[in-house]
Amino acid sequence: MGKKGFSGLEFAAGIPGTIGGAVRMNAGAYSSEMKDIVINTTYIDLDGNIKTINNAEHEFEYRKSIFAKNKYIILNTEIQLTKGNLIEIEQKMHENMKSRKEKQPLDMPSAGSTFKRKEGIIVAKLIDEAGLKGFTIGGASVSKKHAGFVVNTGNATAKDVLELIKYVQKVVYEKFNINIEPEIEIIGM
Ligand SMILES: Cc1cc2nc3c(=O)[nH]c(=O)nc-3n(C[C@H](O)[C@H](O)[C@H](O)COP(=O)(O)OP(=O)(O)OC[C@H]3O[C@@H](n4cnc5c(N)ncnc54)[C@H](O)[C@@H]3O)c2cc1C
Repeated sequence: MGKKGFSGLEFAAGIPGTIGGAVRMNAGAYSSEMKDIVINTTYIDLDGNIKTINNAEHEFEYRKSIFAKNKYIILNTEIQLTKGNLIEIEQKMHENMKSRKEKQPLDMPSAGSTFKRKEGIIVAKLIDEAGLKGFTIGGASVSKKHAGFVVNTGNATAKDVLELIKYVQKVVYEKFNINIEPEIEIIGM
């Protein structure tokens, strides 16, 4: 998109995944999200019917869409970009990537930001202030670089990751009386 001079997806630089996953999760960063650019999405339901919905019908919320409530499969999505300045677009993408590299533990495997943002609260700061930076269960560890990320130090199992998430939630609740929720999708539980 950037190479052709189309603007609107700069926020997505550095978010790994597919368009289907991005729409389902309403992926976003730097004050923009898929909700801002999706025009319509075509999906197939469990009876094999192919349907198309418009932006409002996606029921986009923070990291959520109508596709969180059902098992429909997204086939394609039409997005609206605007004609922009190639240099400015590339600069914005570069800035976003630079900021990610500076703040996030991109040198280690993770599922991205582990906990949801909370209005008026910096969740990673709470975890840090609870003394949990670097806390490890098995191969899963609270990143020393960014306490909002659970990273795999090499041999983490899903059990390690889930136990660590629960432990972090418990300690943060005990210290600050605040419930923090996972942003990542936990499948098969
Ligand atoms: C280092 C790192 C940084 C990240 N930064 C961000 C960020 O800044 N912002 C952000 O929002 N996310 C971020 N993420 C999380 C993740 O990359 C996004 O949520 C991404 O949009 C997920 O896309 P995916 O294709 O990998 O989906 P998956 O993670 O494979 O799936 C996510 C959900 O979507 C469903 N799904 C996938 N494809 C389809 C389809 N075609 N039809 C229906 N349902 C489908 C899956 O069943 C699952 O429920 C980050 C992850 C990492 C590892």
